[in-house]
Amino acid sequence: MARLKAVLFDLDDTLYPERAFVRSGFKAAAAFAEQELGIGRSTGFEELWAYFESGVRGSTYNLWLEAHGADTERWVPQLVEVYRSHKPEIELYPGVRQLLKTLCARTPLGLITEGNTTTQRNKLAALDLEAMFGVVVITDMKERSFWKPHMRPYINALDKLGVEAARSVYIGDNPRKDFFGARQLGMHTVRVKWPEGLNTLLQADSPAYEADISLPNFDNLLEVLASFEEES
Ligand SMILES: [Mg+2]
Repeated sequence: MARLKAVLFDLDDTLYPERAFVRSGFKAAAAFAEQELGIGRSTGFEELWAYFESGVRGSTYNLWLEAHGADTERWVPQLVEVYRSHKPEIELYPGVRQLLKTLCARTPLGLITEGNTTTQRNKLAALDLEAMFGVVVITDMKERSFWKPHMRPYINALDKLGVEAARSVYIGDNPRKDFFGARQLGMHTVRVKWPEGLNTLLQADSPAYEADISLPNFDNLLEVLASFEEES
Protein backbone atom coordinates (compact mmCIF):
# COMPACT_ATOMS: atom_id res chain seq x y z
CA MET A 1 0.00 0.00 0.00
CA ALA A 2 1.44 3.35 -1.11
CA ARG A 3 0.60 6.35 0.99
CA LEU A 4 -0.48 9.60 -0.58
CA LYS A 5 2.31 12.12 -0.21
CA ALA A 6 0.26 15.24 -0.98
CA VAL A 7 -3.37 16.32 -1.10
CA LEU A 8 -4.02 19.34 -3.31
CA PHE A 9 -7.18 21.40 -3.49
CA ASP A 10 -8.90 23.91 -5.72
CA LEU A 11 -10.29 26.93 -3.81
CA ASP A 12 -13.48 28.41 -5.34
CA ASP A 13 -16.53 26.21 -4.82
CA THR A 14 -14.37 23.39 -3.53
CA LEU A 15 -13.54 24.75 -0.07
CA TYR A 16 -16.09 27.58 0.21
CA PRO A 17 -19.25 28.61 -1.73
CA GLU A 18 -18.34 30.94 -4.59
CA ARG A 19 -21.90 32.37 -4.53
CA ALA A 20 -21.02 33.89 -1.16
CA PHE A 21 -18.00 35.63 -2.69
CA VAL A 22 -20.14 37.04 -5.51
CA ARG A 23 -22.69 38.36 -2.96
CA SER A 24 -19.93 39.87 -0.89
CA GLY A 25 -18.35 41.50 -3.96
CA PHE A 26 -21.67 42.95 -5.13
CA LYS A 27 -22.27 44.38 -1.65
CA ALA A 28 -18.92 46.16 -1.89
CA ALA A 29 -19.71 47.36 -5.43
CA ALA A 30 -23.16 48.61 -4.33
CA ALA A 31 -21.64 50.50 -1.39
CA PHE A 32 -19.17 52.15 -3.78
CA ALA A 33 -21.96 53.03 -6.24
CA GLU A 34 -24.04 54.57 -3.46
CA GLN A 35 -21.16 56.85 -2.56
CA GLU A 36 -20.13 57.74 -6.10
CA LEU A 37 -23.38 57.53 -8.09
CA GLY A 38 -26.13 57.94 -5.51
CA ILE A 39 -27.73 54.55 -6.23
CA GLY A 40 -29.17 53.26 -2.91
CA ARG A 41 -26.95 50.39 -1.79
CA SER A 42 -29.62 47.85 -0.90
CA THR A 43 -31.49 48.49 -4.17
CA GLY A 44 -28.19 48.39 -6.04
CA PHE A 45 -27.19 45.12 -4.43
CA GLU A 46 -30.58 43.51 -5.14
CA GLU A 47 -30.33 44.56 -8.80
CA LEU A 48 -26.79 43.20 -9.18
CA TRP A 49 -27.75 39.95 -7.49
CA ALA A 50 -30.80 39.58 -9.76
CA TYR A 51 -28.51 39.76 -12.80
CA PHE A 52 -26.34 37.02 -11.30
CA GLU A 53 -29.32 34.82 -10.44
CA SER A 54 -30.66 35.19 -13.97
CA GLY A 55 -27.36 33.88 -15.35
CA VAL A 56 -25.66 37.12 -16.46
CA ARG A 57 -21.87 36.81 -16.32
CA GLY A 58 -19.24 39.27 -17.47
CA SER A 59 -21.54 42.14 -18.49
CA THR A 60 -23.31 42.76 -15.16
CA TYR A 61 -21.89 46.22 -14.42
CA ASN A 62 -22.45 47.40 -18.00
CA LEU A 63 -26.11 46.38 -17.93
CA TRP A 64 -26.64 47.79 -14.46
CA LEU A 65 -24.99 51.15 -15.12
CA GLU A 66 -26.82 51.51 -18.43
CA ALA A 67 -30.11 50.90 -16.62
CA HIS A 68 -29.18 53.78 -14.31
CA GLY A 69 -28.00 56.02 -17.14
CA ALA A 70 -24.45 56.09 -15.77
CA ASP A 71 -21.19 56.33 -17.75
CA THR A 72 -20.04 52.74 -18.26
CA GLU A 73 -16.58 53.59 -19.58
CA ARG A 74 -15.82 55.57 -16.47
CA TRP A 75 -17.39 53.38 -13.81
CA VAL A 76 -17.14 49.73 -14.95
CA PRO A 77 -13.35 49.51 -14.41
CA GLN A 78 -13.74 51.05 -10.95
CA LEU A 79 -16.52 48.63 -9.96
CA VAL A 80 -14.43 45.71 -11.21
CA GLU A 81 -11.53 46.93 -9.08
CA VAL A 82 -13.74 47.33 -5.99
CA TYR A 83 -15.09 43.81 -6.51
CA ARG A 84 -11.64 42.28 -6.99
CA SER A 85 -9.94 44.04 -4.11
CA HIS A 86 -12.67 43.96 -1.44
CA LYS A 87 -12.18 41.98 1.77
CA PRO A 88 -14.73 39.20 1.29
CA GLU A 89 -17.23 37.91 3.84
CA ILE A 90 -17.06 34.18 3.13
CA GLU A 91 -16.98 30.96 5.15
CA LEU A 92 -15.75 27.45 4.46
CA TYR A 93 -18.25 24.75 3.51
CA PRO A 94 -19.40 22.71 6.55
CA GLY A 95 -16.75 20.39 7.97
CA VAL A 96 -13.95 21.70 5.75
CA ARG A 97 -11.83 23.23 8.51
CA GLN A 98 -11.83 20.05 10.57
CA LEU A 99 -11.11 17.95 7.49
CA LEU A 100 -8.13 20.13 6.54
CA LYS A 101 -6.79 19.97 10.10
CA THR A 102 -7.04 16.18 10.09
CA LEU A 103 -5.34 15.90 6.69
CA CYS A 104 -2.74 18.53 7.48
CA ALA A 105 -1.54 16.52 10.50
CA ARG A 106 -0.53 13.60 8.29
CA THR A 107 -0.01 14.80 4.71
CA PRO A 108 1.36 17.98 3.11
CA LEU A 109 -1.46 20.03 1.61
CA GLY A 110 -1.41 22.25 -1.44
CA LEU A 111 -3.72 24.75 -3.10
CA ILE A 112 -3.92 25.46 -6.83
CA THR A 113 -6.12 28.35 -7.90
CA GLU A 114 -6.16 31.12 -10.47
CA GLY A 115 -7.42 34.62 -11.07
CA ASN A 116 -6.45 37.99 -9.68
CA THR A 117 -3.71 37.32 -7.12
CA THR A 118 -4.99 39.95 -4.65
CA THR A 119 -8.52 38.55 -4.87
CA GLN A 120 -7.39 34.98 -4.24
CA ARG A 121 -5.09 36.05 -1.39
CA ASN A 122 -7.97 38.02 0.19
CA LYS A 123 -10.13 34.90 0.05
CA LEU A 124 -7.43 32.80 1.75
CA ALA A 125 -7.04 35.45 4.46
CA ALA A 126 -10.82 35.72 5.02
CA LEU A 127 -11.02 31.92 5.35
CA ASP A 128 -7.96 31.83 7.62
CA LEU A 129 -6.37 29.15 5.45
CA GLU A 130 -2.91 30.48 4.75
CA ALA A 131 -1.13 28.40 7.41
CA MET A 132 -2.83 25.19 6.28
CA PHE A 133 -1.07 24.75 2.94
CA GLY A 134 2.57 23.82 2.35
CA VAL A 135 2.29 25.28 -1.13
CA VAL A 136 -0.09 27.78 -2.72
CA VAL A 137 0.03 28.20 -6.51
CA ILE A 138 -1.96 31.16 -7.84
CA THR A 139 -1.81 31.55 -11.62
CA ASP A 140 -2.58 35.22 -12.18
CA MET A 141 -4.44 37.14 -14.88
CA LYS A 142 -1.26 37.69 -16.93
CA GLU A 143 -0.67 33.92 -17.21
CA ARG A 144 -4.10 32.98 -18.51
CA SER A 145 -2.71 30.51 -21.03
CA PHE A 146 -1.39 28.44 -18.10
CA TRP A 147 -4.66 28.28 -16.19
CA LYS A 148 -6.09 24.86 -15.49
CA PRO A 149 -6.59 22.51 -17.20
CA HIS A 150 -2.99 23.28 -18.27
CA MET A 151 -0.55 20.95 -16.52
CA ARG A 152 1.85 23.69 -15.44
CA PRO A 153 0.24 24.73 -12.14
CA TYR A 154 0.07 21.09 -11.04
CA ILE A 155 3.71 20.53 -11.99
CA ASN A 156 4.68 23.70 -10.07
CA ALA A 157 2.86 22.59 -6.94
CA LEU A 158 4.20 19.02 -7.05
CA ASP A 159 7.76 20.26 -7.65
CA LYS A 160 7.56 22.58 -4.67
CA LEU A 161 6.30 19.74 -2.48
CA GLY A 162 8.81 17.26 -3.94
CA VAL A 163 6.06 14.72 -4.59
CA GLU A 164 5.48 12.57 -7.66
CA ALA A 165 2.08 12.92 -9.34
CA ALA A 166 1.01 9.31 -8.77
CA ARG A 167 1.37 9.80 -4.99
CA SER A 168 -0.94 12.81 -4.99
CA VAL A 169 -4.57 13.77 -5.42
CA TYR A 170 -6.30 16.90 -6.73
CA ILE A 171 -9.72 17.79 -5.35
CA GLY A 172 -11.86 20.28 -7.26
CA ASP A 173 -15.37 21.08 -8.49
CA ASN A 174 -15.12 22.10 -12.15
CA PRO A 175 -14.90 19.40 -14.87
CA ARG A 176 -13.89 22.00 -17.49
CA LYS A 177 -10.72 22.88 -15.58
CA ASP A 178 -9.81 20.83 -12.59
CA PHE A 179 -9.14 17.25 -13.65
CA PHE A 180 -7.81 17.01 -17.21
CA GLY A 181 -4.25 18.24 -16.59
CA ALA A 182 -4.07 16.52 -13.23
CA ARG A 183 -5.07 13.20 -14.77
CA GLN A 184 -2.60 13.59 -17.64
CA LEU A 185 0.14 13.82 -15.03
CA GLY A 186 -1.15 10.72 -13.26
CA MET A 187 -2.64 12.39 -10.19
CA HIS A 188 -5.71 10.91 -8.55
CA THR A 189 -8.73 13.21 -8.81
CA VAL A 190 -11.87 13.84 -6.77
CA ARG A 191 -14.80 16.06 -7.75
CA VAL A 192 -17.04 17.57 -5.07
CA LYS A 193 -20.60 18.49 -6.03
CA TRP A 194 -21.82 20.74 -3.23
CA PRO A 195 -25.57 21.38 -3.66
CA GLU A 196 -25.05 25.17 -4.01
CA GLY A 197 -21.90 24.89 -6.15
CA LEU A 198 -21.94 26.87 -9.41
CA ASN A 199 -20.49 23.93 -11.38
CA THR A 200 -22.34 21.08 -9.71
CA LEU A 201 -24.58 20.40 -12.72
CA LEU A 202 -21.81 20.87 -15.29
CA GLN A 203 -21.17 17.83 -17.50
CA ALA A 204 -17.61 16.92 -18.44
CA ASP A 205 -16.88 17.39 -22.18
CA SER A 206 -15.31 13.92 -22.27
CA PRO A 207 -14.30 11.22 -19.78
CA ALA A 208 -10.76 12.66 -19.73
CA TYR A 209 -12.19 15.83 -18.13
CA GLU A 210 -14.09 14.01 -15.36
CA ALA A 211 -12.63 13.07 -11.99
CA ASP A 212 -11.91 9.50 -10.84
CA ILE A 213 -14.72 9.84 -8.35
CA SER A 214 -17.44 12.38 -7.48
CA LEU A 215 -18.76 13.09 -3.99
CA PRO A 216 -21.74 15.22 -2.84
CA ASN A 217 -19.65 16.65 0.03
CA PHE A 218 -16.52 15.67 1.99
CA ASP A 219 -18.18 13.31 4.50
CA ASN A 220 -16.46 10.29 2.90
CA LEU A 221 -13.33 11.95 1.55
CA LEU A 222 -10.93 10.23 3.97
CA GLU A 223 -12.27 6.82 2.93
CA VAL A 224 -11.85 7.74 -0.75
CA LEU A 225 -8.26 8.85 -0.16
CA ALA A 226 -7.60 5.56 1.66
CA SER A 227 -9.01 3.66 -1.35
CA PHE A 228 -6.48 5.41 -3.64
CA GLU A 229 -3.74 4.23 -1.31
CA GLU A 230 -4.96 0.64 -1.42
CA GLU A 231 -5.22 0.45 -5.20
CA SER A 232 -1.71 1.75 -5.83
MG1 LIG B 1 -13.45 25.77 -8.37
